[in-house]
Amino acid sequence: MRKTNADKCTNRELHSICIPLLFKKFHTFIMSDTQQIWLDGNIIDKADAKISVFDHGLLYGDGIFEGIRFYSGRVFRLEEHIERLILSAKAIHMQLPWTLEEMCQATVDTVKANGLTDGYIRLVITRGEGGLGLNPYLCPKPSMFIIAAAIQLYPEENYTNGLELITCATRRPTPGSLSPQVKSLNYLNNIMAKIECIQAGVIEGVMLNEQGYVAECTGDNVFVIKRGKLYTPPVSDGSLDGITRQVIFELCKKAGLELTEKSMTRYDLYTADEIFLTGTAAEVIPAVKYDQRLIGDGTPGPISKQLVEDFRALANSEGTPCV
Ligand code: PMP
Repeated sequence: MRKTNADKCTNRELHSICIPLLFKKFHTFIMSDTQQIWLDGNIIDKADAKISVFDHGLLYGDGIFEGIRFYSGRVFRLEEHIERLILSAKAIHMQLPWTLEEMCQATVDTVKANGLTDGYIRLVITRGEGGLGLNPYLCPKPSMFIIAAAIQLYPEENYTNGLELITCATRRPTPGSLSPQVKSLNYLNNIMAKIECIQAGVIEGVMLNEQGYVAECTGDNVFVIKRGKLYTPPVSDGSLDGITRQVIFELCKKAGLELTEKSMTRYDLYTADEIFLTGTAAEVIPAVKYDQRLIGDGTPGPISKQLVEDFRALANSEGTPCV
């Protein structure tokens, strides 16, 4: 097919703007050729880990997942992640043939098989093989696979200097559609928003709900600090009940910091003293610019910096052994 000028321009832009950004600014998951994958009860070579083209996880994004981290030979908050996964399965009416204990064990076994001490785990459960129609009841058996990979974080300068954010035009789904609490394999809504971020030259963006209230970022929860007090949107405003978000509640309690769930508009973020984001991959990361407004004085504030440190200390001091 002949390419139009518009196509060529899009390709050129993709190469000159997006590709360098992807390599410079984003997490890199380091995959080796000898990687061992857990697939439906067996640990096998990456090259042999295959899923059917008739799997509804692929055909419809019908499935669920968790992203989990391990630090210093221990999986961080493993049970919490698997509990959230079980709730996602319940919500999409998927019968799991594995218990919580079995899924925890499979996760630990995968990390062990790869000989890693620090990295990222992706646990995926698909609806399984079925027909070409939507009907999930024609998929008799879900499939689970687990990948463990070394992770190269956002560059350290993002943690010391902070990130820039934009507002994404793509909204979080309304409460009447699929709940954002379900970590489903259909992340297209977030991907649309992520594309907006990349095209704007930033790595994260704020997503609003249909009412215009702040929900979360494309892959992270958001926190605001104003006059020494912390605020985060309630999950009912369209955010995921993040595991790292929960850790921030614990750390604030321990530090005697006041943290409240509150509906917020962009105004609350524009006028914040500090903003930080949380997520399993990103951990805790300050944001210093939002829609071209400097947050505070445009450098990470003291409370965000303290929480970055507190989170790292905690993540490296507890967890389920995996070596
Ligand atoms: N929101 C979305 C949309 C996410 O994908 C994630 C990453 N799982 C988060 C928030 C942060 O959640 P957690 O701290 O559990 O990783």
